[in-house]
Amino acid sequence: MLGLWRKIRGTGRVAEPAPPRPADRLPAAAPLGGSVQIRHVDAGSCNGCEVEIGSAFGPVYDAERYGARLVASPRHADALVVTGPVTRNMAEPLRRTYDAVPGPKLVIAVGDCARNCGVFAGAYGVAGAVRDVVRVDVEIAGCPPRPEAIVEGLRKLTGR
Ligand code: SF4
Repeated sequence: MLGLWRKIRGTGRVAEPAPPRPADRLPAAAPLGGSVQIRHVDAGSCNGCEVEIGSAFGPVYDAERYGARLVASPRHADALVVTGPVTRNMAEPLRRTYDAVPGPKLVIAVGDCARNCGVFAGAYGVAGAVRDVVRVDVEIAGCPPRPEAIVEGLRKLTGR
């Protein structure tokens, strides 16, 4: 065992150096080459926007046919879709989720609350709009936005 430990210590590090990291940001609304993997973050929504996102990915509006796909982990995502005003409790989790997305990455603020706090502006539990916490590339207006508007915003990213 001691011999093995000495051999490991004597060999040192043999892995190749990591390649340079890609740029952390894409130009706003740059097409992502046909597809985008999305992690959704509810930062304090009333869930109205979630219903419309569900419709946008449902069989009628079918955002997947334009290359947009929801994924379960920010580590597998190219973009975050954020809904709701950012509550004080969700500001740090949103920051951490953003940091977990590998670059280059995009952020899409869905709904008026995500854009400017909407009907929750000035509420005691609200830390701010999404752009007050992370950089936003695309905003989709509406309370809630119609599924067509959500699909249109996603198509700007996929270029399809
Ligand atoms: S924009 Fe409207 S539907 Fe969406 S979270 Fe805010 S209040 Fe709810």
